[in-house]
Amino acid sequence: MAATPGDSRLEMCIQCGTCGGSCPSGADMDHTPRALFALIRADLRREVLRSNTPWYCVSCYYCTVRCPQEVHITDLMYTLKNLAIRAKLYEENPAAGLAETFTDQVENFGRSFEFGLATRHNLRHRPFSLPGLAPLGLGLLSKGRMDLTPRRIQNLDQLQRILARAKQLEEAV
Ligand code: SF4
Ligand code: SF4
Repeated sequence: MAATPGDSRLEMCIQCGTCGGSCPSGADMDHTPRALFALIRADLRREVLRSNTPWYCVSCYYCTVRCPQEVHITDLMYTLKNLAIRAKLYEENPAAGLAETFTDQVENFGRSFEFGLATRHNLRHRPFSLPGLAPLGLGLLSKGRMDLTPRRIQNLDQLQRILARAKQLEEAV
């Protein structure tokens, strides 16, 4: 709670389950947000930080707008990712690997590079799925919906300075 900007209101959770019932990624999560908050209350730190739940959160904010207690659920998911990285408990998690590759690309190119992202992720975590994905990839490439090589944004140095400053601020917390 202390690591979440503003007032997370986590202590107000009444375990109603609205968040889990609203979540579009719920089927992929090993714990619903409600269950994760119960684990936090039970002080099961390792189980919480190893959970794939924050990594499957797509930041749609649906849970947050529906929560009757106005718990800042999405913000808490970011905090949990942050804590999992610091505790080095995220590497076992393929969703975390995807987020890591995405972040690297944004830092280096200023934008996502879908072809590289999908290829690296599937090679690392699901190599046998690649032949099945080839028709989809070829279709996207042939229609110009995906690039074969990464493209850098203009004024990338400005974005990199912003990201470096954000990291400094984060480390100071
Ligand atoms: S919707 Fe809000 S109150 Fe209900 S379980 Fe989720 S966080 Fe708790
Ligand atoms: S913000 Fe995250 S946890 Fe909440 S409903 Fe969306 S995907 Fe699920």
